[in-house]
Amino acid sequence: MNAIGGYLKSLTLVELLKGMQLTGKRLFTRKFTIFYPEEKTPQSPRFRGLHALRRYPNGEERCIACKLCEAVCPALAITIESAPRDDGTRRTTRYDIDLTKCIFCGFCEESCPVDSIVETRHYEYHGEQRGDLLMTKDKLLANGDRFEAQIAADRGAEARYR
Ligand code: SF4
Ligand code: SF4
Repeated sequence: MNAIGGYLKSLTLVELLKGMQLTGKRLFTRKFTIFYPEEKTPQSPRFRGLHALRRYPNGEERCIACKLCEAVCPALAITIESAPRDDGTRRTTRYDIDLTKCIFCGFCEESCPVDSIVETRHYEYHGEQRGDLLMTKDKLLANGDRFEAQIAADRGAEARYR
């Protein structure tokens, strides 16, 4: 009986008509798809994207080479080397983040006592070679310079939520 029922269904195209009915129903309802990259979904100020190292307004690096971010990183993605400067302060001589290891957990950002290492909202980047995804200190500082206005605005928005 099941076999006959199935045969009749396929003969009368019932399943196909049911499918078309469902498509027809959805045709004029509100759409949930967006046309990326022309359209983008809203982002939280806490979005965790590409990393950046920030500077103070006078251009001085914020990072004091305390290495808390390196210690807390669960993916062991951060490598820091440091040395004292002539003025007695300590600064990093190497600050690398290997984005092929990073899981974008945000722990580095949370642990930083001077708000130096942050994750920006920028996510439209790619690497064609492994080295492209190794974020060196120079690249991270350049990211910080590029996105500082957005980072500062997001910090202000976060403070208002608290
Ligand atoms: S976001 Fe997480 S995994 Fe990535 S570098 Fe920071 S602490 Fe490490
Ligand atoms: S980025 Fe922040 S947590 Fe990491 S070494 Fe520099 S000051 Fe310390």
